[in-house]
Amino acid sequence: MMQAVFDGHNDVLFRLWTNAAKGADPVAEFIEGTRQGHIDMPRARKGGLAGGLCAIYITSGDIGDDARDGNGHYAIPLSAPLERAPSLDIALDMASIAFRIERAGGWKICRNGADIDAAEAEGKFAAVLHMEGCEPIDADLRALEVFYAAGLRSLGPVWSRNTIFGHGVPFAFPSSPDTGPGLTEAGKRLVRECNRIGIAIDLAHITEKGFWDVAKLSDKPLIVSHSNAHSLTPISRNLTDKQLAAVRESNGLVGLNFAVTMLREDGAKSADTPLSDMVRHIDYMVEHVGIDGVALGSDFDGATIPAEIGDAAGLQKLVAALRNAGYGDADLAKICRDNWLRVLRSAWHEAAA
Ligand SMILES: [Zn+2]
Repeated sequence: MMQAVFDGHNDVLFRLWTNAAKGADPVAEFIEGTRQGHIDMPRARKGGLAGGLCAIYITSGDIGDDARDGNGHYAIPLSAPLERAPSLDIALDMASIAFRIERAGGWKICRNGADIDAAEAEGKFAAVLHMEGCEPIDADLRALEVFYAAGLRSLGPVWSRNTIFGHGVPFAFPSSPDTGPGLTEAGKRLVRECNRIGIAIDLAHITEKGFWDVAKLSDKPLIVSHSNAHSLTPISRNLTDKQLAAVRESNGLVGLNFAVTMLREDGAKSADTPLSDMVRHIDYMVEHVGIDGVALGSDFDGATIPAEIGDAAGLQKLVAALRNAGYGDADLAKICRDNWLRVLRSAWHEAAA
């Protein structure tokens, strides 16, 4: 039997936006399918991908992530901050693609738990709009109000870049996630406002200091949508045992990132990465956060993932590997779907965590 998956992070809107700039029709690409990238309607159906958080993401262009020394080590400098106006234009473009797909029947933009349930019942992809890095948002949070009204239900104050809200963690291996300062005063206002109006706050890509700033401020379960265990893969983007313990303490969640650079012991960017590396991180995070606090955050369309998974159509291979590793149906339902629904409902003021 197929285990339905609700996934915590994908960049399908970024892929569709990139291809649209080259003349492709993003609605047709999603609905009819393509061989490119990882997610479209046919492949989501095939792999049991029932929905997930779809990121509005502003690119910094080529960040030079192939530069490694003889030991496979690297330290990519933090990307430069972005201007707000062009970032806002891109965010509106990506959001418009999301709404055009919805209008054409390709998915449902979900604003609450009942929407997700309804989408699943209709057999429609349940898309939740996420903003990965808040360059489109002003310090007075006026744009936040508008994006919320449009359907935004999750955001990360930073991508791996500094914003007016906080400091991002650069990509480095090996490296601690403690690479700089945390939230700014505007960032603290942003966190409080998200708590108040009901937008999930995602701590992927923020510095360790920023993580602790949010942990101190936020009254909601801590969410790290696409990061793994630093003890197993010591990249700056993964979480230390102390951070995992804080996620557990808050009844929060960590979503397994399928990026091979965040799964492999050697941090190499090689798609020839066994599923056992994914299981190893799940096991470790379950041990440290608990079975109610581990989920999936594939980074589909945003990362090099294990060839054995390939794309969204291969998701049940991960489910099978987890089953073989001893996870039963109830555990698999939590990891693959239910834990995300629980923390989102909590962030959206729908239920206690
Ligand atoms: Zn990311």
